[in-house]
Amino acid sequence: MKTFALVGNPNCGKTTLFNKLTDSQEYVGNWSGVTIEKKQGLLKIDNDNYNIVDLPGIYSLSSYSDDEIVTRNYLLYEKPDMIINIIDATNIERNLYLTTQLIETGIPIIIALNMMDEVEKRGDYIDYEKISKILGIPIVSMSATKSIGIENLIDLIKNFKQVKKTQSILKNTDEFFFAQKIIKYLAQNNIECSELMAIKIVEGDKKFPCDIPENILQSLNIPQKSWDVLVATDRYNFIDELIKECVKKSHEFGQLTFSNKIDRILVNKYLAIPIFLLVMFLIFQITFSIGGEFFSKIIEKFINDDLSSFLNKFLLDINTNALIIDLITKGIIPGIGMILTFLPQISILFFFLSFIEDSGYIARAAFIMDKPLRKIGLSGKSFIPMLLGFGCSVPAIMAARTLDNPKDKRLTILLTPFISCSARMPVYAILAGTFFPNNSGLVIFSIYLLGIIIAILAGIVLNETILRGESSNFIMELPPYRIPTFKNLMRHIYERVKDFVEKAGTILLLASIIIWFMQNFNFEFKIVFDSSQSILGTLGKFIAPVFAALGFGNWQACVALLTGFVAKETVVSTLSILYGGNLAHELLLNFTPLSAYCYMVFVLLYVPCIATVAVIKREMGSWGWTFFSIGFQILTAWIVSFVIFQFGKLFL
Ligand code: GDP
Ligand code: MG
Repeated sequence: MKTFALVGNPNCGKTTLFNKLTDSQEYVGNWSGVTIEKKQGLLKIDNDNYNIVDLPGIYSLSSYSDDEIVTRNYLLYEKPDMIINIIDATNIERNLYLTTQLIETGIPIIIALNMMDEVEKRGDYIDYEKISKILGIPIVSMSATKSIGIENLIDLIKNFKQVKKTQSILKNTDEFFFAQKIIKYLAQNNIECSELMAIKIVEGDKKFPCDIPENILQSLNIPQKSWDVLVATDRYNFIDELIKECVKKSHEFGQLTFSNKIDRILVNKYLAIPIFLLVMFLIFQITFSIGGEFFSKIIEKFINDDLSSFLNKFLLDINTNALIIDLITKGIIPGIGMILTFLPQISILFFFLSFIEDSGYIARAAFIMDKPLRKIGLSGKSFIPMLLGFGCSVPAIMAARTLDNPKDKRLTILLTPFISCSARMPVYAILAGTFFPNNSGLVIFSIYLLGIIIAILAGIVLNETILRGESSNFIMELPPYRIPTFKNLMRHIYERVKDFVEKAGTILLLASIIIWFMQNFNFEFKIVFDSSQSILGTLGKFIAPVFAALGFGNWQACVALLTGFVAKETVVSTLSILYGGNLAHELLLNFTPLSAYCYMVFVLLYVPCIATVAVIKREMGSWGWTFFSIGFQILTAWIVSFVIFQFGKLFL
C-alpha cells in the first residue's frame, strides 16, 4: 500500500485535512503544537486503499524539538511514497520555505494550498498555476474546513504515478555545486545521499543526522564559508521573487488585519493580564454558579432520590442479598452518582476551554505570559501545556514535547500538575457549594488562581536550585482569530464527556466497590459495624495526625486523599460513601469553612493521579525525576495548606 505524508507548518490545517481524507476524529485546535505524534489513517478511493500519515507541524527540516524530530525522521528514514505539502495560503511566504527543503528530500510532492477561503475573504489573489509551473509541483487550491478542493486533491493522489520529482530551487548556486560533488563522491563509494543531506553537509549542520564518516567529509575539500546563511538567503530570495510574480495582496503591507486590531486590545501591555484573568474568572463563574448549579441539582436529585429509592425497592422485591443491596445503594450509587452530577459543569467548562483554543486566544495567552514566565526561567511556550492542564494533566504533560530545550521541558512537566485539572473540579464544587454557597464561583476561581501562582513560585524555586539554565526564545506564532466551528466545539466536548463517563464506568466503579469493601470489612476480612474499625478507618486514623495541622484531621477526609491517588474524582466518591446519607450535612459537621478551603488547596496541589505519574515517568524517562515530582507535589501541598490554615486561624 502506498503511503502519503501530510507535511506542513504548524497550524496550517493538516489534521483538519487528515480527518476529512480518512474520516477520523483527531484533535484540531487553532494553535501550533496540537499534533505531537504521527497518526495514520486509511483513505479509500474506489477499490484502492492509501495510507495517510498526519505529522506534527514543522517550519523547516532543521528544527529540533521532540515533535519536530518525529516529522523529520519520518521523512528521512521511513520515506513515504509521496509528500502532501500543506501550505497555509495566508502565510504563503513562510510556508514555502519548508517546501524548498522538502523538494530536496527526493520524495515526490504535491502541494495542497489550504485556507484559500481566508485568502479570498481578504481579497488577495494567488496565481497558483504559475507557482506550480515555476516549482514544477502540482498544486490544488483548497479549504479543508469548508471541504473545497478535496476532490481535486484526491484525483492527484489517485494519479500519483504521474507526479515527477522536481529540481532543487538552489540548482544554480555554489552550495548546490558542492552538494552535487558530495553526492557523486558518495555514490562512487556506494553511499546514497539525498540533495537535502548533501546541502546539510555543506552547511556543516551538526545536528542533522548524517552517518558519513568524518574522514570522507574532510577529503571533500569544501571551502570554509557561512554556507548556512547563504543557503537560507538563497531560499528566501527565490521565494521573494516567486511571491512578487504570483501573489497580489489587496491591502498595503503594514495595514492592520482584523486579528491585529483585536490584538491591540487583547495583548495590550497593560490590559492583557487583567483581561486574561477576567476571561478566566467569567468562565468559572458561568460554569459553576450559573450553568452547573442548575443542571447538577436536577441530576443529583434524580440519582439520590428517584434512582436510589427505586433500586432499593426493586432489589428488596426480588430478594437480593442485603450485602449486595448495601453495595449498590451505599457504595456504587453514591460513589459514581455523585461524580456524574458534575457532568454539566464539565461540559460547560470544556465548551469554554475549546472556545479559547479554537478561536486562537490560547496562543495570545501564551504570548501574554511569556514575560512573567521568563522571570522564572520558562518561556511562553510552556504556558500552553499548562493551559491544557485545566483539562487533564496527562495530555498537558505530553504537550511539553513541543519544547525544544530539555530544561524547559523538565520544568514544565514538574509544574503542570499544579494546574487544576477537571478531575479535581468535583471536589471543589462540593466543598465550595457547601461552605461558600453564595460565592462558590469566586472561591473556585481563587483555587485555580492559586494553582497558577504556586506553579510560578515553585518554578522560581526550581529554577534557582536544581534546574538552572537559559530558556529558549519564544517562537510560537499568533494564528489569526477564527470563529470556532460548531462541529469542532461539539467534538471536543463529546470527547471529554465520553472520557468522563468511561472513567466513571470503569475506574471509578471499581474504586467505589473497593472503597465500599474497605469501609465494611477490617483487616481480617470480617464485617464491621463501626466503619472507623474498618480497613479504611484504620488507615485513615493512621495518617490523620499528619493532616491535623492543616485542619482536617478526621479519618474520612484523610483516607479520601489516599484513594484520590487513583483518580481525583475518587476523593468525592470516598467522602460520599464514607459520610453516607446527607453528604452536605456531614461535611458541615466535619469541616469549618477554613479547613474545607485548606482541603481544596491540598487536593489542588498534591499528586494528581496514577495516570499522571505514569506519563511523567514516560516523558521524563527517569524514575528519579518521577519520585522527585511526587515528593515535591506532596510537600508543596502540605506546606501551602499548612500556611493557609495557620494564618487563616489568626484572622478568623
Ligand atoms: P494543523 O496544526 O496543521 O494540524 O492544523 P489544524 O488542522 O489543527 O487546523 C488549525 C486551525 O486552522 C483550526 O482552527 C482549523 O479549524 C483551521 N483551518 C484548517 N483548515 C482551514 C481552512 O481551509 N480554512 C479556514 N478558514 N480555517 C482552517
Ligand atoms: Mg495537527
